[in-house]
Amino acid sequence: MVRFHNLRKSYGAVEVLKGIDLEVSSGQVVALIGRSGSGKSTALRCVNGLERFQAGELHVCGYDLSAKDLNLRNLRQDVGIVFQSYNLFPHLTVEQNVTLAPRKVKGVGHTEARELAKEVLAQVGLSDKVDAYPEQLSGGQQQRVAIARSLAMKPKLMLFDEVTSALDPELTGEVLRTIERLAADGMTMMLVTHEMAFARSVADQVVFMHQGRVWEAGPGDMLLDPQTVELRQFVGSGL
Ligand code: ATP
Ligand code: MG
Repeated sequence: MVRFHNLRKSYGAVEVLKGIDLEVSSGQVVALIGRSGSGKSTALRCVNGLERFQAGELHVCGYDLSAKDLNLRNLRQDVGIVFQSYNLFPHLTVEQNVTLAPRKVKGVGHTEARELAKEVLAQVGLSDKVDAYPEQLSGGQQQRVAIARSLAMKPKLMLFDEVTSALDPELTGEVLRTIERLAADGMTMMLVTHEMAFARSVADQVVFMHQGRVWEAGPGDMLLDPQTVELRQFVGSGL
């Protein structure tokens, strides 16, 4: 579903992705870990076309991201992304926030939108909050609404960039459990996380990035037995 081949990306003269090879198959969960500045977010943002790259290949959900005629709008309907900051509209209800894009982009009607909101809010465990306003919700609940908002577009692939980093520890768990439930339902996901225990348990594949490269990759248990000094230090640093 996602295939990076020797992907290179620079900002000006600085190369930040130095030849990424990575594959994600349908239904897989891949966790990207690594130090600050190692290129995790940049790699993730390439996947839904938020960043362009200079060399190599990237195929996502059947789209060739190097193609001149790439239809970014279609790509982004298939690939949802959730960030650390959830940016819900404060003056809109949860239902309105969640269904805004499907109503605008897909022309989903009023009744259908309500059903859709209920369906995706159930997926994140917030069925009872359909008519609430964001300020009436905890940070963890707001982040789950942001996830529901992405799900409402019926994506084939979900990207998560440190979605729990802005949350208090007690709220982090509920968001991680939501992601685990999506994984159990078979959603294909790539996630950047600093939660090592979570990465180990949820991911089919853990990818340790270092200085713009995939330094080490393997099943979650590779974190128990790092093959490189860099991963050993990273895991040992208590992150
Ligand atoms: P963090 O854990 O801090 O989020 P990261 O692994 O996600 O780090 P990236 O955000 O992908 O790292 O950044 C990789 C490198 O690219 C860093 O050196 C960063 O300074 C640089 N970089 C990121 N975005 C830009 C930009 N818009 N312009 C210039 N350089 C950038
Ligand atoms: Mg980042």
